[in-house]
Amino acid sequence: MTNNHACILPPLAELQGLLGLSETEAKARIAEACLRQPLQCPRCFGRETFARKNGRCGCRQCGCAFDLVDGRWMSIPSISARSWLILIKCFELGLNVREASRMAGVPRSTAYRAFRNIRLGLAAQDPVWAADPRIGVEALISNPMDGFLNYLRNWTARYRGMSPEEYPLYVKECQVRFEAQGQPLFERLLACVAAAKPIRVV
Ligand SMILES: [Zn+2]
Repeated sequence: MTNNHACILPPLAELQGLLGLSETEAKARIAEACLRQPLQCPRCFGRETFARKNGRCGCRQCGCAFDLVDGRWMSIPSISARSWLILIKCFELGLNVREASRMAGVPRSTAYRAFRNIRLGLAAQDPVWAADPRIGVEALISNPMDGFLNYLRNWTARYRGMSPEEYPLYVKECQVRFEAQGQPLFERLLACVAAAKPIRVV
């Protein structure tokens, strides 16, 4: 067995584990990740919230009722909790959208949206990228870490047809993968999509 195989086998076993989860078990895992983050009303962004008896949440400021995942990057109604965990694992493993959609049992467009939200969530965690992704890219590329540019070139070669608008998101993904140095990313990615989407001033 090569070292390469030794690295990839544990994550594949974890994928098998996620595939065996029930929706109830997956929901509990997702709820746990959401509850580690501050609860925020998705409508008025108020923090004065409370748990309702029906498992939903309520806002004391605007009075609305909402689900735990509302207003977060993982708030895509067509994706079940189980599919989300599988999609996150597929992203961690570097599978493409086609493979991930098959694993998670969702349409390709949905898997694409999930992957995009993971990347948006990663970018949103970085204040520089959140303010202006172009500045983030420029800072990273003009003063790169050793070996990063090669890594970036190799990793992004797999994404054919990437639009210029999307490019900064892929660079951020590469930065996160590069800095992780092969360490597991699943928990970080889960926390990232469980985070609230930032307030956009339109
Ligand atoms: Zn509210």
